[in-house]
Amino acid sequence: MATATAPAARSAEPRTAPPAVVGAGALIPLADGTRTDYANFDYAASAPCLEAVRGALDEALPLYASVHRGAGYLSQVSTAAYERARRAVARFTGVRDDDAVVFVRGTTDALNLLARALPEGCTVVVSSAEHHANLLPWQHAGSRAARVVRLPLPASPRQAVEDARAALRAAPDGPKLLCVTAASNVTGEIWPVRDLVEAAHAEGARVAVDAAQYVPHRRFDLADSGADYVAYSGHKLYAPFGAGVLAGRTDWLRDAAPYLAGGGATGNVTEDDVRWNDLPARHEAGSPNVLGAVALAAACDALTEAGQEALHEREELLLRRLRAGLAAIPGVHDLSLWEPDHPRVGIVSFVVDGVPAGLLAAALSAEHGIGVRDGLFCAHLLTRRLLPAGHDQAVRASLGLGTTEEHVDRLLSAVARIAEHGP
Ligand code: PLP
Repeated sequence: MATATAPAARSAEPRTAPPAVVGAGALIPLADGTRTDYANFDYAASAPCLEAVRGALDEALPLYASVHRGAGYLSQVSTAAYERARRAVARFTGVRDDDAVVFVRGTTDALNLLARALPEGCTVVVSSAEHHANLLPWQHAGSRAARVVRLPLPASPRQAVEDARAALRAAPDGPKLLCVTAASNVTGEIWPVRDLVEAAHAEGARVAVDAAQYVPHRRFDLADSGADYVAYSGHKLYAPFGAGVLAGRTDWLRDAAPYLAGGGATGNVTEDDVRWNDLPARHEAGSPNVLGAVALAAACDALTEAGQEALHEREELLLRRLRAGLAAIPGVHDLSLWEPDHPRVGIVSFVVDGVPAGLLAAALSAEHGIGVRDGLFCAHLLTRRLLPAGHDQAVRASLGLGTTEEHVDRLLSAVARIAEHGP
């Protein structure tokens, strides 16, 4: 659950060892051939596949067929696997019994779907701190939002709640939706989702949570959070690309026109009429990504089995080591919106005085076998506001299941060297 306090644990008894990541700790040769031990610090972009996911795909691959529309054996096996995946995702996300779980391509897709499913006259309130996937769909072509209120960056979590409350209160009567991230993809800071939900519900609004960066690190329980919708992506959750989730309240989704028109979403088509299917098929037109759903569900199950609390504790130690190390290097600035000790997931963005972010990232890769991301991280409004004077981009180091102390120490000594001597 996305609050500043400890998340609710419904998961199985924690084990200490993290699930095996395909390729983690393996030697991956770099193009220059001089370094073979690659330290991946780009989990926030996409996380490598778990062994458990590869196993699930190995099982599903020889048996897959188009789902829901065939009486044959393979179609029945695939349909069962697809619907089993939906139940696994529902368990992982703590969805309520009467919520819908719609398979989509990823978080961007999920939030665009929701934007098209808004009821007549809906006011959408969203913070400037959001990833573009949660900032832009509401005002994009196809969105049914009647108005979008964009909140300024809040100086504190409390301010985030107060600003949202005030904007929702000032909105005209009618449906309202507050869209909020559970954890920032730039700073890793955890947003006060539970407090935001409470404030929004008191103003008669619903809440959609972008949990893309939260679920790879901590358990998010939709029912427990009180939020109305949640979205996330498989490829950030140790499964391959192309499958994600939109889960939540059924009424808006059921009343909306199907996200895509086509087979699977249709119950009956005549010369002059179309009867659309009910949820979730209504928004899953076309042949669905069965293998993507199976892979995503396998990742959800493996993380639950490993115990998300235990994984979080391990990551917390690495994160502290990284942030303390960066703070000790002269000329390094760690980007934070709120107080430095505000809870965050394993994401740190930083700059080094006198070293452009692009050059820093290139040097870390070429000289030290370290993969980070540089740029504005699809959250231009937030990142630009957090950059110290003289910088126009930042470097982001994000942690995951394959991150080790050696990786963190290597990153720290490389950054210290570059800060002192240049790239
Ligand atoms: N939301 C957040 C917070 C993200 O970090 C990302 C991806 O980086 C997205 C949404 C978009 O996810 P996807 O590209 O899988 O649709």
